[in-house]
Amino acid sequence: MEAPEAWIISVGNELLIGRTVNTNAAWLAKRLTAMGFKVSRVVTVPDSEEDIGEELRRALGRARLIVTTGGLGPTHDDITLAAVAKALGRELELNEEALRMLKEHYDRRGLPLTEYRIKMAYMPKGALAIRNREGSAPGCMLQEGAVTILSLPGVPREMEAVFEEASAYIQRLAPRRDMAECSSKIKGVPESTLAPLLERLAKERANSYVKSHPLGFEQGVPVLDLKVLSWAEGRDRALKEAEEILRLVLAEVEGRGGSHSGVACS
Ligand code: ATP
Repeated sequence: MEAPEAWIISVGNELLIGRTVNTNAAWLAKRLTAMGFKVSRVVTVPDSEEDIGEELRRALGRARLIVTTGGLGPTHDDITLAAVAKALGRELELNEEALRMLKEHYDRRGLPLTEYRIKMAYMPKGALAIRNREGSAPGCMLQEGAVTILSLPGVPREMEAVFEEASAYIQRLAPRRDMAECSSKIKGVPESTLAPLLERLAKERANSYVKSHPLGFEQGVPVLDLKVLSWAEGRDRALKEAEEILRLVLAEVEGRGGSHSGVACS
């Protein structure tokens, strides 16, 4: 079974001007991949309704899961949920559950619910509010046909906490598959020589990802790092698949007079 596609849409001008490194996207990509999704796009857009909407509409035609990060806060430039509502043609309405979460959050701190704080409870119609244990803005989850849209805050600690709250639901969208990774350091065979075999394996082994990274030259011979990631039901099967693929490549390396460091799996 093909892995369901996930898109990550990072929202924030500060990401585009290079003031903030997009660590959220890397964290999510790793987490979603481990959960059995195929992350096929990571897109960064400015705080603009049109730009967010454009990428959302593009993603809706392809992805099973769309995760947005950033722009859930109380200020005027936090417009992610307004953009989601507009792109889906839904109303932005006061979400009672989100309001309750915000009230609880500010009550605990002895702070009043101002207009700006209440703004964070406005979500597209039909949304499920998700608790934010690390901050104020709740996350937001929506179903649009077969596609799930999960909107997370931008602050990394909050983004992770809200994702974890939603992870049991998200996991149900992907077949529960385990991942294994095997790698080897290859010497004396250029990447281009292995390219036809790697291409064939990429086509034939849809549940695996085979990638070579050139590491440069040692004593005049090319050195490559070869990684195989495999997903299967059960860790043993994933491990068997990754190891089998790596051994096929290593046999080719030996056949072409190269050497390698053996098979290391995790
Ligand atoms: P808040 O509730 O704090 O307003 P928010 O959902 O509105 O959260 P943003 O205002 O978009 O989030 O971002 C808040 C801060 O989080 C940014 O100033 C930045 O430091 C950090 N941040 C935002 N996006 C990312 C990202 N993709 N990767 C890493 N850090 C990020």
